[in-house]
Amino acid sequence: MASPLHPVNQRRATVLLAGQAVPAAAIRSGPEAFQEVLARAKTQFGSALCQCKRSPLRLVIRERNNKLHLACWPDQAQEHALDCPFYSIEGQGGRAAYDQGAITPDGNDTKIKLHHPVVQKRTEASRDSEAKSRSRLHIWGLLHHLWESAGLNRWYPGWTRDWGMVRYVLRRAAQTTTVDNEPLLPSLYVPPPWSHKRRDAIAQQWSQFKHPLITNHRGTNTVFSGFIIGSIKSMEKTPYGFAIRMHHMGEPIYIDEATSARLASYSRKGWAAARLLDTTSQKAGPADTTAHVIAALRVQASASRTLVAIEGAMMRVSKAWIPVSSSYEEAMADALVESDRRFVRPLHYDIHHLDQPHFVLTDCADPQGRDPLPRKVAMFVYGKGIDEAYQAKIERNDADLAQRLGYGMWSWNTKTSTTPTLPAVHPSVTAEPRAAPPQSSDTAPASAN
Ligand SMILES: [Zn+2]
Repeated sequence: MASPLHPVNQRRATVLLAGQAVPAAAIRSGPEAFQEVLARAKTQFGSALCQCKRSPLRLVIRERNNKLHLACWPDQAQEHALDCPFYSIEGQGGRAAYDQGAITPDGNDTKIKLHHPVVQKRTEASRDSEAKSRSRLHIWGLLHHLWESAGLNRWYPGWTRDWGMVRYVLRRAAQTTTVDNEPLLPSLYVPPPWSHKRRDAIAQQWSQFKHPLITNHRGTNTVFSGFIIGSIKSMEKTPYGFAIRMHHMGEPIYIDEATSARLASYSRKGWAAARLLDTTSQKAGPADTTAHVIAALRVQASASRTLVAIEGAMMRVSKAWIPVSSSYEEAMADALVESDRRFVRPLHYDIHHLDQPHFVLTDCADPQGRDPLPRKVAMFVYGKGIDEAYQAKIERNDADLAQRLGYGMWSWNTKTSTTPTLPAVHPSVTAEPRAAPPQSSDTAPASAN
């Protein structure tokens, strides 16, 4: 078990518990250390108060397996500040579209079920691989669950994010996730930032991850899978498919033609961007070689000890690791981060054709200047590929969606304007304190081995 993990980017919010202020992030990720004060608050006050916003939000004190923990008041998870560890988007987006039982909150943990089991008996018929059923998650669902639980699809002024931080928060999310009732963390490898000084520790972590896969390789009766989440450095063509190379990782992952075709069909944008990262191809023209693409791969070992991807998702992200699906959305995400805005990128999970805003800004002024509180604005980015004939219809649908959600509407048509003017910030937001200066992620992830 790792030492208690303290989120580096969530230092601002505190929880008021029986008159005592407790860091929200610490009690969220490690309620074990706060049992006494939780018990006192439960008998004396019945609840706790989250102070992430000016008007505090009540938190429920729940008991599970004789242990107390804090949870959001029903339907209030979205009301918490974006940098509050109690914020989540319950009941919306791709996460809400699964059948009951696919993603189950369980106290402080989340139980998820996958279509493809981590341990596969060769004699068992594999579960229907193309199953449309929403009773379980495919790999996009797993990747988006981790990304969202790690808070990587949102932004708050003052935050910073590098690969060390991304790894740290992903592993923290994996630490509270079980897959088919087994802990996810031991089956997940997120390459640590390469450091010559730490090369022995890094090599040891890699072999620890790989060992059970090699012992139970594809030629044995019980085949083990593991998950790798990394940032793609290049994809090279091989006689049988591709070799995927990740940043901070020496060993390539191989993927055959059939699997890569399947992956490409569910990851069109990510796949296209990743192909341009291919350093061996000599493509002329202004190739978008600076894109960041995250690969989430389910891997198994071959009898010859190489790792083979048997399922995967490729997700394009912005410089701040916010998921995007085009260079325009990336420009938008960069502009929002650079302008210190508060926003969320809704995630589709396995439901690829979900109508969702591209971004939701949460700090906007009411254009009439009457609303005392910031309002949410749904943002839509229209790329150059949209057929003129459909443009008006798409905009109408999006306006309806924004209205249904109760949000304002903002859009950027990249065909007609180059520099979008962002919605104005609500005056109360500029008066609020920013997040505490983040500590260097060099120290945080090192403790999270
Ligand atoms: Zn809060």
